[in-house]
Formats: sequence, structure tokens, C-alpha cells
Amino acid sequence: MALSFKNVSMLYGSVYAIKDITFDIDEGEFVFLVGPSGAGKTTILKLLFRQDKPTSGVIEFFGLDVNRIRNGGLPFFRREIGFVYQDFKLLQKRTVYENIALALEVTNRSNAFIKDAVASVLDMVELKDKNNSFPYQLSGGEKQRVAIARAMANSPRLLIADEPTGNLDPGMQWDIIQLLNKINNYGTTVLMATHASDVVDSMQKRVIALNGGMIIRDSKGGYEV
Ligand code: ADP
Ligand code: MG
Repeated sequence: MALSFKNVSMLYGSVYAIKDITFDIDEGEFVFLVGPSGAGKTTILKLLFRQDKPTSGVIEFFGLDVNRIRNGGLPFFRREIGFVYQDFKLLQKRTVYENIALALEVTNRSNAFIKDAVASVLDMVELKDKNNSFPYQLSGGEKQRVAIARAMANSPRLLIADEPTGNLDPGMQWDIIQLLNKINNYGTTVLMATHASDVVDSMQKRVIALNGGMIIRDSKGGYEV
């Protein structure tokens, strides 16, 4: 099992962001997390990445109890998970190379390892020639490809993407989806939150649908049943 949520709830004040969420994802799966704005998608991804701890319930990542990881262990845990955001979160004053290398430096990799790893992920996203470019010199789609390269630099076991196509033109959106699909085909488990129904319809993958913090559907297919 790559990950599992067991009866997980998250209360903000007196409001449940998610309520009694239970699901398992196997290694190698590609899963869409769908639902309207406010449904609880980002909350699930944040809890999985241990940016917060749930009010109740258990979250496991390859058998590891995520909520029991001590602070000193968090960087090592987090390098097993790549995170891709809607707004890319690239450092504007750093080059493409530096943006990716920094993700590796925080986990104490050697310089030789970093150089090889950056070249390899830039090759994967087909942006080798943008090594020395700054984010402002890139299109939206290219920025997101850099962000995906950064997320993959530590060869994570899981790639999480939170509305990764939300800021992109429809044409660019398909490039990103194809790239995530390629990464999944190479063996990385992918969990993608989205409300892009056309993307979900075309992929015909497993869909976990949320509404009001609860799972209302978990099955293979399009955005709607
Ligand atoms: P989604 O990503 O599906 O749009 P979220 O997980 O961001 O949904 O939010 C789910 C619910 O939890 C929303 O009602 C939101 O307002 C609330 N929420 C999320 N984060 C916080 C927070 N840090 N403080 C208070 N309420 C929050
Ligand atoms: Mg969200």
C-alpha cells in the first residue's frame, strides 16, 4: 500500500474541512481527487505531506504513521513525496537549475549527485536548454514543467499535484497531464487534485470525489458517474 487514510477528520475552528475520510492507494496508481472548491482536496494533500496534523484518524505512507514522524525526520519523509502546486512556487531570482538543485540541497545530497539529478529531471521534462533561464523567461507550461522536475528530483515514491493545470491555457494543460502520466508509467504513484472535468474524463483513471469534506464516490471513470 502506498498510502492510506483511516477515518481522518480535520476541524478548523468548528468547521470540518474533511470528515471521516477513509481510502487506500496502491503503489503505481494514478488517482484524481475531485470536487468543487472548498470540498477538502488541499486539506487531504497537506495532511499527507505533514504540513499539518489531523484532528483525528491515521494516515500511513508505505506503512509509516505520518503523524508520528518527529520534526527531525520530516525532511527525509518529504523527499519521498514530490509536491506540485497550482502557482508553481518557483524562486523568481533563481535559475531553473538552481530551483531544482535547492530541492536537493536541503536533503544533504552531494554536488555530483545534484548535478546528475538536475540534468536527468530536466531531460525528462524536455527543458534541458532552459537550465540557465529565470522563471520570468518561461511560459506558464514551462514553469509547471520546471516545478514537476523539481518535485521529481529526489525520485519520490509519490507525486502529489494540487490543481497543477489551474493556471494554464487548455493547450498547456494537456502537456502537463501527459507528463504526469509518463511519470506514473515509470512507476511513481500520482495523486492529483483537480476540478478540470475534461482532463479527468479523457484519462479514465480512478476518481475519488469529495463534497463538503466527505467522499461521495471512489471508482474508475470520468468526472461524473
Ligand atoms: P479544496 O482544496 O477542495 O478547495 P480545502 O481543503 O482548501 O478545499 O478547504 C476545505 C474547507 O476547509 C474549506 O471550507 C476551507 O475554507 C476550510 N479550510 C481550509 N484550510 C483552512 C484553514 N487553514 N483555516 C480555516 N479553514 C480552512
Ligand atoms: Mg484546493
